[in-house]
Amino acid sequence: MFVHSSRIVEKHSLIEYKDDEKLIFKEEKKETDEGMMTFLKSDRASQLHVDEIQEILRTDVHYGLPHEEVINRRAIHGFNDFEISQEEPLWKKYLGQFKDPLILLLLTSAVISIFMRQFDDAFSITVAITIVVTVAFVQEYRSEKSLEALTKLVPPKCHCVRNGKTENFLARELAIDMSIDESSFTGETEPRSKNTSPQSKLKSNGITDRKCIAFMGTLVRCGHGKGIVIGTGENSEFGEIFKMMQCEEAPKTPLQKSMDTLGKQLSFYSFCIIGLIMFFGWLQGRGLLDMFTIGVSLAVAAIPEGLPIVVTVTLALGVMRMAKRKAIIKKLPIVETLGCANVICSDKTGTLTKNEMTVTQIYSSDGDLAEVTGVGYNAKGSVMCNGEEVKEHSHPNIAKVIEVGCICNNAEIYEDGVHGQPTEGALITAALKLNIQSVPDMFVRKNEWPFNSDTKFMAVKCTPKYGQTKEEIFFLKGALERILKNCTNYYDHGHVKPLNEKRQHEYLYQASVMGNAGLRVLAMAYGPKMDELVFVGMVGIIDPPRPGVRESIRMLISGGVNVKMLTGDSEETAKAVGARLGLYALGAAALSGDQVEEIDLSQLCRIINHVSVFYRVSPRHKLKIVKALQCNGLVVGMTGDGVNDAVALKSADIGISMGRSGTDVSKEAADMILVDDDFSVTLSAIEEGKAIFYNIKNFVRFQLSTSIAALSLITLSTVMRLPNPLNAMQILWINIIMDGPPAQSLGVEPVDHDVIRKPPRKVKDPIITRDLIINTLISATIIVSGTLWVFWREMRDNKITPRDTTMTFTCFVFFDMFNALSCRSQTKSIFSVGFFTNKMFLLAVGGSIVGQLFVIYFPPLQAVFQTEALDWIDFVFLISLTSSVFVVSELKKLLVVIIEKKQRQKKERVYYPDDLV
Ligand code: ATP
Repeated sequence: MFVHSSRIVEKHSLIEYKDDEKLIFKEEKKETDEGMMTFLKSDRASQLHVDEIQEILRTDVHYGLPHEEVINRRAIHGFNDFEISQEEPLWKKYLGQFKDPLILLLLTSAVISIFMRQFDDAFSITVAITIVVTVAFVQEYRSEKSLEALTKLVPPKCHCVRNGKTENFLARELAIDMSIDESSFTGETEPRSKNTSPQSKLKSNGITDRKCIAFMGTLVRCGHGKGIVIGTGENSEFGEIFKMMQCEEAPKTPLQKSMDTLGKQLSFYSFCIIGLIMFFGWLQGRGLLDMFTIGVSLAVAAIPEGLPIVVTVTLALGVMRMAKRKAIIKKLPIVETLGCANVICSDKTGTLTKNEMTVTQIYSSDGDLAEVTGVGYNAKGSVMCNGEEVKEHSHPNIAKVIEVGCICNNAEIYEDGVHGQPTEGALITAALKLNIQSVPDMFVRKNEWPFNSDTKFMAVKCTPKYGQTKEEIFFLKGALERILKNCTNYYDHGHVKPLNEKRQHEYLYQASVMGNAGLRVLAMAYGPKMDELVFVGMVGIIDPPRPGVRESIRMLISGGVNVKMLTGDSEETAKAVGARLGLYALGAAALSGDQVEEIDLSQLCRIINHVSVFYRVSPRHKLKIVKALQCNGLVVGMTGDGVNDAVALKSADIGISMGRSGTDVSKEAADMILVDDDFSVTLSAIEEGKAIFYNIKNFVRFQLSTSIAALSLITLSTVMRLPNPLNAMQILWINIIMDGPPAQSLGVEPVDHDVIRKPPRKVKDPIITRDLIINTLISATIIVSGTLWVFWREMRDNKITPRDTTMTFTCFVFFDMFNALSCRSQTKSIFSVGFFTNKMFLLAVGGSIVGQLFVIYFPPLQAVFQTEALDWIDFVFLISLTSSVFVVSELKKLLVVIIEKKQRQKKERVYYPDDLV
């Protein structure tokens, strides 16, 4: 097996590995028609040499597999992913719904009715149960489907050699020092280094011993390399773990947990009340079976068993909506946390800025400054120095800066843009403009020290390709302070001169001028030894802010969310970009990574709220910044893309990784992924997070008021010795409305844009607030009084007829529909929310009303629900009466607005007494 450096996937093709990609390695077990082996278990493969594996699997380390062969092998093995475990057939799931104890009790009452020869009742109860169970089943099925869809949101990618070409990715050379984090398998956090030597056959051959195997599901921490895929699919080591994982249930979100608790508490109280109703009914000499059926139906209706499901579906649908807006939420609880976020710490490059780098200035070590024109990664544009155009050898001092930058470079420019880091692409583009792009070909690279955000430089060791001398030369590029540290000389008009302090200050001054203009500064040097370098100059690179980011930052700040910029760039560049984005006021405090490291945590906690720009920050500083903010009681969102960002992403309340530039390690550690690396999406996600919480409050209010109203109605009529105003089937119908589509549709109310202006919610804020309880009780009281009054009015002839219950029943259902309408917003009038803004709501309520009309006018359903056709005048009466619940709620909202306005005016008067003068 061959793992010379790192990256993954698919079948027995040859894979190029690159830093931090997720390994999607597997083993195969089958053979093709010709008897060719297309499988290798990792224990066996680990003992074989690369050549042996190539032979067995009939592949080639240089050419990979031809496309046709890939198709053949895919036909045998399928795609390189896992089948979600065999699903239970739908009919079984459906029948499973009947296992609910309450439904079983209702079925018992239907059976008892048969024995008592009350066939009508038995039939009606059965039909009603079937409807209830079907609605519950459809609801649960939808919830499962939306959760399932979530798992498909982050497809892993790979780079693979096919037909001799690397597809998707071009790795220029094989590298060294590859190490892989196998903690997902072994629990060991220390990455394991990988090499190509086969394992001794005598040695124990546990997973940790297989040093030449890269397993799917593990993460490359550093280095890059190539390997042969020895297998795909479920038979891999990862596949085994995947199967185990499937048995584990996803943990519940705090909101789901509190809904479960609420559901249990309500169930307990409902059971007590229902017990009492049945007891009193029995004392009053009412029919036992009748009371039992009513009691159980009431239990089905009053217990909001649909509450946790509606919460889950609402969260899942919210996640799907966010995915459409290019933010992938990996864990449901994060939807809740998003609404509580007080501060977002964001990287600069690529998130706040476009990461489209263009060199605009070249400063040579001997003091020449050239201006570069042209945009995009192409040769269009020119380089001008002191009024002359710079070309090839016209200005060796300027050309030298770009030459070093191109030799110490891994990017390539193609028609579709830059492959590799944009910063390096910008240097190659500058070389194209100078027509010196072939300079790197004159050297053979012997070694490489890749760039990382901690060291802030990249170095290569080369020997000249042509000529007699084969002496080694180091080429470096990186942050100016970092490069100057290793320089002893500088290049001055063709001569190498010793570097003195005055010169160094000049360079630092020049870099600060570039930084103040918002440019990113990159310095170059070369030399015979790493610590004896010749400084050649630096470039200023422009990276324009992303469109819309400034506006998003403004919106976030106005919504009580602070935005802090963390960047590896210099102080001047950071401040200039920060000011341009509206998150930094010139003259305000900014902290460097070193300062963050020096001061202790308590000191940092004291000042951190006033600092919005952090410069020369390395990933290790991010953790301390997160901790300090959390110490101040803030809920922190932190962005990151590198391997070293993983710890900070994990410890932040919301770890945010980048879909495009992010490493797999960071994506794994993150809770949310910004698909296009675009910061503005964070705003949408926070908006959704806040809105979802409000929506959940809305349907909780709706469900609670219906529940309380149904229970009180039956309790009161029993206590008042009235006959039952609703029969069992009617109660079950009400249950469908309460737990079913109308409630669900309240969960998908579109985002109210005023919500984003509200301050973040406190994590511990309960759903059931005093306001919510008051609103719920007001609605329930109106519904109960109205329904009882209609019942009493219909009963004046002292005879209970189908018309009486139909009127009462329809009255309750209409009350509920108007109640749902007023529950669409807790604070805003429906006239400002808009009647037609929630299509799902219109459909659900429209459907429920049509259903109700069927129940009243369709003879078979009339038989089931024991109803009778009503007159149009009855409807006029019922609608006028039941709309009262909506009118009262609207008036209350209006009153609250007026009171709040008065209070605000009063406060303003207190603060600004002079304004009145
Ligand atoms: P972010 O804002 O996302 O943290 P950044 O680009 O501001 O990213 P780094 O990528 O850590 O921060 O870059 C810090 C410094 O390192 C830059 O100012 C630049 O001088 C230098 N640098 C950046 N990219 C390279 C590279 N590919 N090779 C060498 N030096 C680099």
